[in-house]
Amino acid sequence: MPQAAPPTPRTRVRRLPARGAYDRSAIDPILDEGLVAHVGFVHDGAPFVIPMGYARDGDRILLHGSSASRLMRLLASGVEAAVAVTLLDGLVLARSAFHHSMNYRSVVVLGRTSEVRDEEAKRRALDRLVDRLVPGRAADSRPASEIELRATLVVEMPIHEASAKARSGPPVDDDEDLELPHWAGLLPARTVWGPPAAAPDLPADIEAPPYVTGYERPGRAG
Ligand SMILES: Cc1cc2nc3c(=O)[nH]c(=O)nc-3n(C[C@H](O)[C@H](O)[C@H](O)COP(=O)(O)OP(=O)(O)OC[C@H]3O[C@@H](n4cnc5c(N)ncnc54)[C@H](O)[C@@H]3O)c2cc1C
Repeated sequence: MPQAAPPTPRTRVRRLPARGAYDRSAIDPILDEGLVAHVGFVHDGAPFVIPMGYARDGDRILLHGSSASRLMRLLASGVEAAVAVTLLDGLVLARSAFHHSMNYRSVVVLGRTSEVRDEEAKRRALDRLVDRLVPGRAADSRPASEIELRATLVVEMPIHEASAKARSGPPVDDDEDLELPHWAGLLPARTVWGPPAAAPDLPADIEAPPYVTGYERPGRAG
């Protein structure tokens, strides 16, 4: 596990700082559980936030997309960017409207993007992106052709300047509200994966592999 990095002026959590953490033992599990990152950057002086798939690979975040995409071309050119990943664990209902909240775990990573150009490194990065969704899947699918590889940009961003923030537990009401007649508590949230649905054009003799039938991701509700 990489060493804890101190917060920088940009990543220090200001509101409820006790909920902030800067060590990789807090950051990495959130990045590894999440599936969608919101990637923020500035283009022509205007801010954009775009949702994307991603993978953590050691000390970097990997992104990929079409070589024709404005977003990917910009990220590949090397820009300052922000990546946010959010896991929603539940809704927190307090007696007072003011103390309603959400239980969550989230990470923000700030840094400069760069393109992964080397062909072998690019192939490994693409495998990692696939395996992060479904472990074992990269080795059990056709590798990218040369044309597909050229049509894809892979971008990395270091996890050097990053923060995690989390809330858990029941609502925290003011003492004078505890006798009020309103229900208070948690509505835990979790993602549920349904049974696999074979592609309509899949030959009948190809069975779903165990990594599909037994698909699970780390997660918690509460
Ligand atoms: C869950 C999820 C995972 C995704 N994973 C990837 C990925 O791994 N790689 C990838 O390249 N793309 C991914 N996308 C698609 C991505 O969000 C962009 O739509 C895509 O990159 C298009 O880029 P572009 O350069 O054509 O558009 P841009 O030029 O970047 O976008 C132009 C404008 O279109 C609008 N727009 C673009 N995307 C969206 C959107 N998703 N929702 C609403 N409005 C939008 C915005 O107003 C934006 O300013 C993902 C989307 C989702 C929701």
